[in-house]
Amino acid sequence: MERTVSNFSKGDKHNLLLPKNISIQSFIDNMPIGIYACDLSGHITYYNNAAEKLWRCTPKIGEEMWSGLPKLFLPDGTLLPLEKWPMTIAVQQGVYSQEEEVVIQQPDGTKLNVLEHPMPLFDSNGKLLCIINTLQDVTEQRKSETKQAMLAAIVESSDDAIVSKSLQGIITSWNFGAEKMFGYKEREMIGKPITTIIPEAHRTDELMILSKIRNNERVEHYETYRQTKAGTLIPVSLTISPIIDKKGNIIGASKIARNISKQKEVEKTLQHHAENLEIMNSMGKLVSQTLDIDVILQTVTDSTTRLTGATFGAFFYNMVNDKNEPYMLCKLSGAPKEAFENFGMLRNTAVFSSTFNNGAIVRSDDITRDERYSGNFPLNEMPEAHLPVVSYLAIPVVSKTGTIIGGLFFGHPQPGRFTKEHEGLVSAVALHAAIALDNAKLYAEVTRLSDKKDEFISLASHELKTPITSLRGFLQLIEESLDEADDNKKFMKIALTQVKKLSDLISDLLDVSKIKAGKLPLSFSHFDLIQLAKEVVIQFQFSVRSHVIQLESREEKIMVHGDKQRIEQVIINLLGNAVKYSPDATEVKVLVTGNETTASLSVQDFGIGIAPELQQHVFSRFFRVEDEASKPGLGIGLYISKEIVQRHNGRLWVSSVPSVGSIFGFEIPAK
Ligand code: ADP
Repeated sequence: MERTVSNFSKGDKHNLLLPKNISIQSFIDNMPIGIYACDLSGHITYYNNAAEKLWRCTPKIGEEMWSGLPKLFLPDGTLLPLEKWPMTIAVQQGVYSQEEEVVIQQPDGTKLNVLEHPMPLFDSNGKLLCIINTLQDVTEQRKSETKQAMLAAIVESSDDAIVSKSLQGIITSWNFGAEKMFGYKEREMIGKPITTIIPEAHRTDELMILSKIRNNERVEHYETYRQTKAGTLIPVSLTISPIIDKKGNIIGASKIARNISKQKEVEKTLQHHAENLEIMNSMGKLVSQTLDIDVILQTVTDSTTRLTGATFGAFFYNMVNDKNEPYMLCKLSGAPKEAFENFGMLRNTAVFSSTFNNGAIVRSDDITRDERYSGNFPLNEMPEAHLPVVSYLAIPVVSKTGTIIGGLFFGHPQPGRFTKEHEGLVSAVALHAAIALDNAKLYAEVTRLSDKKDEFISLASHELKTPITSLRGFLQLIEESLDEADDNKKFMKIALTQVKKLSDLISDLLDVSKIKAGKLPLSFSHFDLIQLAKEVVIQFQFSVRSHVIQLESREEKIMVHGDKQRIEQVIINLLGNAVKYSPDATEVKVLVTGNETTASLSVQDFGIGIAPELQQHVFSRFFRVEDEASKPGLGIGLYISKEIVQRHNGRLWVSSVPSVGSIFGFEIPAK
């Protein structure tokens, strides 16, 4: 029906204006609020559709009394006795409560919160006719109020700061958590701009946050800083969500700020430990990989200076020179060497002597005020600008034998910079350093002795070379002068063979010295490797009767560019070993092959072979397989051969199976 004025009958203020064809009865029947009436004896005389819907039952008019339902409760759940029902009180006592909330229970057990408001109805003479009660369902409203109250309680009891603000950044709510975190009371902050708690340097945060909120985006776990009323900066993690009204408009933002100071502290501590660990690890690695005292000292100085956060660090290390005179090596970190130049009399000062002589750890928050050391401290003697040391830490470096071999010293211009933790860390490093330095010292000693040995071998072989050469010459003269029938000729030949062996040994030793000095001379020429191999085999077979040397080659000629004599030396050495280390065999094979780029020669024997784990060592200087100590030799033949082949840009290799035999071979570039 159209709602036009003509459809309604006119009335005064209290008259009901209804469309002409709608009766009051049907108007009340269909009202959205429950209405029912009881006569003065309490019998129900009327109820409308909404009341029926609330009760979910249809009480008999004139028969049932007080209400459509048998029970009423108070909102707290207690049963309300009949005499206290709003309708009963109104009928029996003529008292009409303003509005009372009760809980009704529908036949299926569903409970609803209902506002009852009984009102008396009088006739035109003022006589009471009946009581009309209205029933207003407020269940949903109560539910949402409870939810609101719960949310409010959660917000209030939260340790996080929960704040809401308008799209203009004006604070609209401020919980207890926010009061605790930022020090401002709710009344101080409502209506204030949120920038009150945003430090100057982080103001751009707010622009970014507001623009995201306007786009209906959430900002999650955004880490930044906020400022308290006292001016302290605290690290916070922010989660900000848009606040949307019922119509879907974004009207502001809710912000949860969590104080992450503790988390940051833990992160910082973790990071600090991780950094320390990394410094220790890389220091450990460097120090254990080197035997160079200088490198160890510098690495330890740099690492410990970083570990302690010192402005400078120094490692003083006691050394003894060749003349057995003590001197001190000093490595620095963080300060120029000139700054330490006045440190001449280190040990004579009280501060250094406690560490150097007594092995004491010295840690001072302010060494300039320390009674024990002030006046003595060498730094006092220096111009202030050089090393303004206030915090001071000294850790002795003690070797395994208990000798104090040095000390680590650290300084910082501010007081109280070194802690017990630094003491522990540096002490641990000092322990490690002492071991590494002891090893390096030992290594230096071994190297020095080894150099002396090399020097001796070189000198001795030089000294032996001349007399042996002249001895050999004279023996040859005598041997040639003797008649074939003369028995002495035979002895002289044996003597000559032995002298040759001696001479070869001395030559080998001389070669070793030359290789060590990088002075093994080579003289290059072009020659045919097959031809050379043939000559060597024939010559070798002369002196060796125990084995047959078989030479094989598919090529006619393999030209190489090299030192013919030295390559011959290599082949003889390989043949000599093949015979020496295959006492039970009768055969040795020599194979010469070649192509455009490479010429190869291998010598195969059927002897004792070499265990796989020892094969890589046979080319080392003076190495001999222990079991073979009974066989003559010095362990230098393969070492010299390898050097010769390598000087030809070639490769000497071995392939061997114990008890089956070995193949030694070399490859050198073909011409
Ligand atoms: P030397 O033979 O004088 O000891 P080398 O440098 O020629 O020195 O050889 C080093 C070591 O390699 C030998 O002591 C031996 O133990 C092992 N070796 C070399 N050649 C052979 C081989 N053909 N068979 C088994 N072992 C060998």
